[in-house]
Amino acid sequence: MAERRIYLDHAATTPLDDRVFAAMAPYFREKFGNPSSIHVWGQEGEAAIEGARRTVAEILGSYSQEILFTSGGSESDNLALRGAALAERHARGATRILTTPVEHPAVLKTAQDLAARHGFHLDLLPVDGYGRVDPGDLVARITPETAIVSVIYANNEIGTLNPIRELGAICRERGVPFHTDAVQAASQLPIVVDSLNVDLMSLGAHKFYGPKGVGALYVRNGTGLASTQTGGSQERGFRAGTHNVPLIIGLAEALRITHEERASQAARFRILRERIIAGVLERVPESRLTGHPRDRLPNHASFVFHGVEANSLLAALDIAGYGCSSGSACKTGAPEPSDILAALGLGDDWSLGSLRVTVGRSNTRDEIEAFLDALPPIVRRVRSAFPVRT
Ligand SMILES: *Cc1c(COP(=O)(O)O)cnc(C)c1O
Repeated sequence: MAERRIYLDHAATTPLDDRVFAAMAPYFREKFGNPSSIHVWGQEGEAAIEGARRTVAEILGSYSQEILFTSGGSESDNLALRGAALAERHARGATRILTTPVEHPAVLKTAQDLAARHGFHLDLLPVDGYGRVDPGDLVARITPETAIVSVIYANNEIGTLNPIRELGAICRERGVPFHTDAVQAASQLPIVVDSLNVDLMSLGAHKFYGPKGVGALYVRNGTGLASTQTGGSQERGFRAGTHNVPLIIGLAEALRITHEERASQAARFRILRERIIAGVLERVPESRLTGHPRDRLPNHASFVFHGVEANSLLAALDIAGYGCSSGSACKTGAPEPSDILAALGLGDDWSLGSLRVTVGRSNTRDEIEAFLDALPPIVRRVRSAFPVRT
């Protein structure tokens, strides 16, 4: 067993901040009222969630009514795509969905489902070798039949950032709603909706030191949205179900702290990231960086190693005390090459050997140096013990 364990997988999830836990705690016990109830217990709950909504809105530069609380990033993506696609088809007969091959499955599979079961046509924008969308390609492919455009802000697997502001301006000019999945971006990048030109934006609390199982969707006033979960009139009827008050409080408090500390944390992460990238490329033979070298999440380093089987590498790193990932957490376990790496044009001999290292608030320079010392012999061993056949 390793003497110490070092967590380097903050893109998969982050630990709950103590201050967030403290803010949530009363709402699990004494402040238990249903915000939809008329009495004092209910009023207390309602005041709490409306306070949380104002906090989130202020950070996004939006109106409170433009914030919907959901069960997480995945639900926000689902509601954005399904809700806008169905509403746009109803309003103006638009039947095409325009997205990218490098989206999180919560977007891509939703778009595919809308195509397979609801008669929409799916168009994919090309991406360059860094996984980035060129605004010129959006101009070329957006049509009056496009119901919604969805482009990920910061890629979870390879860290690359997209030019959201430019892409949003193109959609705005043509009157097509624009969604971005900002679930990774929110912890480290600006998320002011007017500067990003977005109409819909997804957030998930557990990626910024908040609780799991809660998210938010920003919906610009005037954006058509069909409700995909029907029932009570919570969240202005767009998202039925009794509010999960403690989790909503947790999301708002986590976002408030993240916003306050964003600049200083991002600067610190960037230094650790640069050290990881330089160290890995220098010490591990036949290694390559994936994603953009500069336009990437401050805390995110991702690589491919030639002829290495990623799951064996992750298991060996785990035994040595390091928690890393090969890409999206949801894909761990499947020995398939990642769709995202395939979209970048990497062959299986490279793409089966991906490693993602994402730092967080607690990581130190010492931990990174220990990791950089440990990695090269582990890669060497895995390479010879589990040769990749492609
Ligand atoms: C984690 C993640 C999601 C899913 O969020 P959940 O809250 O876990 O449902 C969606 N998109 C991106 C980019 C993510 O990193």
